[in-house]
Amino acid sequence: MHEINEECGVFGIYSPKTAPVSVLSYYGLYALQHRGQESAGIAVSSGGQFKYHRDTGLVQDVFDNDKIAELGEGQIAIAHVRYSTSGSSNRINAQPIVVNHMGGSMALCHNGNLVNSNKLRSALEREGCIFQSTTDTEVISYTLTREYIKTKVLEEALINTMDIIRGAYSLVIMSSRKLIACRDKHGFRPLCFGITEDGVYVVASESCALDAVGARLIRDLRAGEIIVIDENGVNSIDIHCNKAKAALCVFEYVYFARPDSIIEGVSVHEARQRAGSFLALEHPVQADVVIGVPDSGLDAAIGYSRQSGIPYEIGLIKNKYIGRTFIAPTQQERENLVRLKLNPISEVIRDKRIILIDDSIVRGTTSARLIKLIRGAGAREIHMRVSAPPFTNPCYYGTDIESKEKLIACKYSTGDIADIIGADTLGFLSIENAKQIAKGVNASGGYCTACFDGNYPVEKDMEID
Ligand code: SF4
Repeated sequence: MHEINEECGVFGIYSPKTAPVSVLSYYGLYALQHRGQESAGIAVSSGGQFKYHRDTGLVQDVFDNDKIAELGEGQIAIAHVRYSTSGSSNRINAQPIVVNHMGGSMALCHNGNLVNSNKLRSALEREGCIFQSTTDTEVISYTLTREYIKTKVLEEALINTMDIIRGAYSLVIMSSRKLIACRDKHGFRPLCFGITEDGVYVVASESCALDAVGARLIRDLRAGEIIVIDENGVNSIDIHCNKAKAALCVFEYVYFARPDSIIEGVSVHEARQRAGSFLALEHPVQADVVIGVPDSGLDAAIGYSRQSGIPYEIGLIKNKYIGRTFIAPTQQERENLVRLKLNPISEVIRDKRIILIDDSIVRGTTSARLIKLIRGAGAREIHMRVSAPPFTNPCYYGTDIESKEKLIACKYSTGDIADIIGADTLGFLSIENAKQIAKGVNASGGYCTACFDGNYPVEKDMEID
């Protein structure tokens, strides 16, 4: 049960000839919907003419047949789903951002958060920039435009911009003739690209979006890499590669990404199963059945079951139709919301010693409600195991793990948390093993674990001047 929200999802497509790029982007966004449910948008370039549509809501709410038809066919498109990790959730903050400047037009989508956006924003405002939104993305687009006006070459402008902006950013950028993508120097957020049988190139936050449009995964962008896709194919610019310690967000594997995605050569599904097996080794307990909290706790529960030999069962059924906007204003209604979202299967749970696997505990309130629900279904014992370490620090790189005050593990020991949430025992995955769940295949081998251990790969610039 998730108390943490995803960041954003980005998508880009380049077709050598005119193609239904808006429809394909729509499919890509559908596959990335789990990364952001607050707004969605698509921008299309047809012969250098830009059309775009963006609004608040799910992909299915923002786009219908008429909207997609209005965007029409083209050669290039970029698209975005958003969760507001910086800037509030309203229409003005929806992406793509489209910029018309003296050299032409450009559109941009961003996943991640900058750590120096306040400073950059103030400096840009002093230069006369008037911001329309409260997002980091607009800071990036102004910086990029300013560099473009200086250099007259978008690639050079982006190289310069990457030396100015700091933090987490996976970007897709569309000019009238090119699709450009880049990953920040640490590679916090995933970004990969692939190709369809028709020679259409696709860039996406996760490989599941490539699958959705029939594209074969070529590879992930390296940390710091820029790729430029145009009539000449793909050109890689590696000037910013190997300049910083690689720090892919380990929580992508634990929770954010879809299990059918492959990130840096590692199946998310397999990484979650490995997390479950590590948990079984670290926190064994006598029990009758292992159940997972849908969806991202399920793979880890299978891994725990396989390692421990304790049978795995589906013990909780998720109502897939409850959206983010479901109204639950009062405490009692919030209690009932857990019951609406998840319903225990009493036949699996009654009189059993349950191992309950979830992907995280943030405040503890959701876990407490869930455990109450499972006890109500007749569980004899509940041993909660969490497939991530305890959160003890805020994240500055594009999630809403915001402040220490909201993190239960900052105030209480594991034993105390078990008492608070009502579990008989509680065990978290160790940080050492969290780093191992995707180990061995990642080319760079470096992960961010800052929200668990406070080792920030890049410090947040707290100064606002
Ligand atoms: S601080 Fe945590 S959630 Fe944020 S990028 Fe690092 S590992 Fe991911």
